[in-house]
Amino acid sequence: MCDDPAIDKPAKLLTPGPITTTASVKKAMLKDWGSWDSDFSELTASLCCQLTDIANAGSSHVCVPVQGSGTFAVEATLGTLVGPEDKVLVLANGAYGQRIAAILSRLRRPFVLLDKGDYEPPRAEDVRAALAADPEITQVALVHCETSSGILNPLEEIAELVEREGRSLIIDAMSSFGAIPVDAQRIRFDALISSMNKCLEGVPGFAFALIRETVLQQAEGRAHSLSLDLYDQWRYLQRSGQWRYTPPTHVVAAALQAVKEHAEEGGVEGRLARYSRNRDLLVSGMRGLGFETLLDDNWLSPVIITFLSPADEHFVFARFYAAMKKRGFIIYPGKLTQAETFRLGVIGQLYSEDIKELLDAVSAALDEMNITLPNRVSNATQA
Ligand SMILES: *Cc1c(COP(=O)(O)O)cnc(C)c1O
Repeated sequence: MCDDPAIDKPAKLLTPGPITTTASVKKAMLKDWGSWDSDFSELTASLCCQLTDIANAGSSHVCVPVQGSGTFAVEATLGTLVGPEDKVLVLANGAYGQRIAAILSRLRRPFVLLDKGDYEPPRAEDVRAALAADPEITQVALVHCETSSGILNPLEEIAELVEREGRSLIIDAMSSFGAIPVDAQRIRFDALISSMNKCLEGVPGFAFALIRETVLQQAEGRAHSLSLDLYDQWRYLQRSGQWRYTPPTHVVAAALQAVKEHAEEGGVEGRLARYSRNRDLLVSGMRGLGFETLLDDNWLSPVIITFLSPADEHFVFARFYAAMKKRGFIIYPGKLTQAETFRLGVIGQLYSEDIKELLDAVSAALDEMNITLPNRVSNATQA
């Protein structure tokens, strides 16, 4: 006998994806589609066109979707674009940069790792020195928002340097695309990888890469894998309008609704404004309660924020998690090797009222756990 899962009142997800979605995005999944039908091909074509537009990349790049989570798209993109004779400079300052290195290692593609530790940003100067030290480097891989600490890495200065040095840039923009502006005509990249279930506020099931068309045209037969070959996926889509192999039809329908709502909110600008408001409210409220952020203000992304766990012996993450869940909020553990931390995401269907409720819940959870923080301002959230 198997127990029924506990499905009660839906909680707000303070995570970096999957995130809380609108009812209308969920409702878009109620219809069944034939994956070979022309109506579904139109969905895919419209979605790809709109995703490319979000980066102003329509004149230079193509959008190639791929089934699976974001990591599948990272692996597919690296496998399709990086050949055995290439060499990638991987800029890592957290788990997702490390994952790029792990993928290249599995694929037996040459790479060098520039590891800045848990949360120091890679700077243009680091990249310049690494490229000067190793002229064999052909591509540079950067994580835009490194979700493991929440740091927003300096994409513009690195892209500028990589362009000046005549190398190719591959961006993991999984947790930033849709909320942090990237204009393909201003920031030069050959591939930008993202997924629907983060700032675009869709549901999980597929991811995609925006790839410079002239670069993808040269990638025939290079991929290590049949199902993760983005060249083949692109050609097949071009020829037939269909995905190779079964697409997540309901998820694609939800994605189309999600990009419609993204545009209605004012596109990237609108979403950035809401997420930034969420972050500012959260950070000032949490500081009022006595918490400290891991990062200085200028590196805090409007995506996810890492807080240092209080030194108080009564603070146990599992208990804090349970106290927050009871109050309707799903929080996220930390992912650092050195410091004890936890993370709170501000993306998805979260608004100022939710952040205020969240701060009240944190305050109540601290009381429940018998924790008094040094600078705790009482009734901070009412102020
Ligand atoms: C979420 C995320 C990924 C992909 O994770 P999946 O769990 O495979 O969807 C990759 N890179 C970054 C920076 C992310 O935030």
